[in-house]
Amino acid sequence: MSFPSRSVFAILSGISCLAPCGLAQTPPSSPAAAVWNALSAPALDPAKSAYAENVDIIRDHVRINLTDGTIQFTQPVDGVVFGAVFHGKGLLQAIPPNPQEAQQLHLFTKQDKLNVEFTDATFSFTDGLFDEVAKQVKWRSSGPAADDLYAKRQAEREDLGESAMPRLLQSILSADRARTEYFLADLKTDKGWVEVHDDALEPEDIKIGRWVDVGPFKIFDTWMSFPAGGRTSADAWKDPQAKEDITIRGYKIDAEVTSGAELNATARLDIEPRLSGQKVLIFDLDANLRLESVKDFSNNSLAFYQSRETKDRYQSYGDYVAVILAEPLAAGTPLSLEFRYGGKRAIRKAGDGNYFCESSGWYPERPNSFSTRANFDLTFHSPKKLVLVATGENTSDTVDGNTRITTWKSEMPLAVAGFAYGDYKETNDKAGDVVIDIYANREPDDVMEEVQRYFQEGPGQQEAAVGSMSPSMMAKTMGTEIANAVRLFSAWYGPFPYKHLSVTSLPVSYAYGQGWPGLLYLWSASFLDSTQRNAIGIRDQTAVTDFFRGHETSHQWWGHRVGWKSYHDQWLSEGFAQFSGDLYVEYRQNMKEYLNRWRKEKELLRNKDINGHEVEELGPIWMGQRIRSSITNPGSYQDLIYSKGGYVLQMLRLQMMNPRDRDPDQAFKEMMQDYCKTFDNKAASTEDFKAIVEKHMSRAMDLDGNHKMDWFFNQYVYGMGEPQYTFHATAEATADGKTHIKGELTRTGVPETWKDAISLYAHVGDRTIKMGLLAARHPSELFDFTIGGKIDRVSINDYEDLLAEVKQ
Ligand SMILES: [Zn+2]
Repeated sequence: MSFPSRSVFAILSGISCLAPCGLAQTPPSSPAAAVWNALSAPALDPAKSAYAENVDIIRDHVRINLTDGTIQFTQPVDGVVFGAVFHGKGLLQAIPPNPQEAQQLHLFTKQDKLNVEFTDATFSFTDGLFDEVAKQVKWRSSGPAADDLYAKRQAEREDLGESAMPRLLQSILSADRARTEYFLADLKTDKGWVEVHDDALEPEDIKIGRWVDVGPFKIFDTWMSFPAGGRTSADAWKDPQAKEDITIRGYKIDAEVTSGAELNATARLDIEPRLSGQKVLIFDLDANLRLESVKDFSNNSLAFYQSRETKDRYQSYGDYVAVILAEPLAAGTPLSLEFRYGGKRAIRKAGDGNYFCESSGWYPERPNSFSTRANFDLTFHSPKKLVLVATGENTSDTVDGNTRITTWKSEMPLAVAGFAYGDYKETNDKAGDVVIDIYANREPDDVMEEVQRYFQEGPGQQEAAVGSMSPSMMAKTMGTEIANAVRLFSAWYGPFPYKHLSVTSLPVSYAYGQGWPGLLYLWSASFLDSTQRNAIGIRDQTAVTDFFRGHETSHQWWGHRVGWKSYHDQWLSEGFAQFSGDLYVEYRQNMKEYLNRWRKEKELLRNKDINGHEVEELGPIWMGQRIRSSITNPGSYQDLIYSKGGYVLQMLRLQMMNPRDRDPDQAFKEMMQDYCKTFDNKAASTEDFKAIVEKHMSRAMDLDGNHKMDWFFNQYVYGMGEPQYTFHATAEATADGKTHIKGELTRTGVPETWKDAISLYAHVGDRTIKMGLLAARHPSELFDFTIGGKIDRVSINDYEDLLAEVKQ
């Protein structure tokens, strides 16, 4: 329910015709143009054709063997041979570097080691492939002059939104080619085209997988992804910026938004080069926003290449902008770039006074922006009769004719910035010093209008009192709820990071929520009353009210106050938000509802997908976005990362719960507050969070006696599996007024080495008291002890403590 990809537009807005074929738009003439043109129209070199017999191409753990066939290279550009075509018989082999990658490879291919034959191949590269192959082959006197396979595959990959051209251009023009080396092998197998990437600018250099058709679009299944050279992913991502050429320090954006849902903007990026030598910088920008110009600080117009416009197509052509600098980057010499762009589809009109503004993609950014922070200085020109709200502090608000001009400044560097506008009703509330502003649409959106009409004029003229479905009716309630959530999370996690929080309603057809810094986008179903929610088919009311509001509000802490370093760590945002949504249900409703939520989260993990996999079996939560693939249901990623990620915190909360503390959650709260303080406005990794847990863990949680939580993280974060427990215990009163407790705990369904720290609860009358943690280190644990006082019975899992099936 947060941070969706830009494809949400495509998915929701339906297919339209495909754009005519052709490559990226022609830029102003520049020395780079010759390179780009050569890349766009690759010409094979008749003098560089050879018979290949048992030619080995080795990239880290990957071996590509050209067993028997012919290979021909392209003409060089700027002295670099960048492409090759192979026809014949070949073999792709790869060895997974660790059990996680082995599990993923097996899931997709049923193989423990990758072993696939191929018949044709294309290679796109700036590394040493040409010399490597040249040493192993005999050149033919002359090769064929025409072979369209390379150009064909290049066009097909562009169609999928993964053109290699910007990356090849960058590497060819780089002064430091070794640091920017690129290699892509595209191999035709009986499973379709399989890709092998070795990209020196990616923290995980090696990636193997393929595109698979899932109906209206294709999705990339990653079979394996890992850093070269035997490094672990945790190590490669330790500093997510390590391979980044630049840090974007600040944005100054001047944007105009219209009542016709157009966006035109000028964005100035203040850039600090970290490394020297790069001549081409690549940014992400929604391809529906067309770039008019890029200028540097000396007002030089720079050449650029942009991916083709997506329009309403399901599959985007990519969102890249490659900018050619006047001079190569020099570390320590600041740079600013000014982008002018505009377009129609970044904002969608969804009814009278109802607009949907995309939260990411509307300004140029580097990928993985949640691992960095920048200052944002925003100016918006919007229709006078509408209200515009953006991230940051509103520093001015003036009217000029029919235009409202507002300015917004970030109080501190932020990961991202967004805005929303519409015919809003505004209400305010407060949570301590934090101002809560609610911006709810006055008019129902198009879908709500239809629902209203159906109930007023539809068959049988149903009397259900849906009334007017205006989100503004619930604005006041929303203010109270969001203020409650801010108070609750401030008490559990530490201070709210900003001075205010604005909440806007999203049209019904955009069924999600998103937390941006100081700005929430909430699905308007959450602004309706229960009769109206029923009318649009919502059955789980808590899911769209208390839970949803809590989840999204908590992203102010999870994602913004503390970011994440890599896709592996995104569960630290979504899982923690899921836990927080459930926590808000406990606070707003009761413990019974809180426990019901966890039972539901567990059910989601046990659900079978289209291929009969339980969601839990798809991979560890550490796999992050890779769980989204062609072999599972569209919702499986969310079910796994959100629900299991949340369960990790639920288990820690219950392990740390101490009834002897004045507040039984004291230790857990201290840990969460320490985590927020340590990574205040910074990105954290799974290992960073683990270190905080180890700092705060109790002695009873130390199952390995080494003050480490490896046992827990290896099972529930880096690993998979759900144990089944059977618990039997008797409690007998002794003659001297004590209780003799005797019993057995057995575990199945997981490896024998599995461990859990299990809370044991005593029941006395209608009271339930946590006695302590039982160390379940073996598949069967016997216990036999006597304690003071009278106890009726003992049990485990009273608070859904365990991500396990429990029989007792
Ligand atoms: Zn979320």
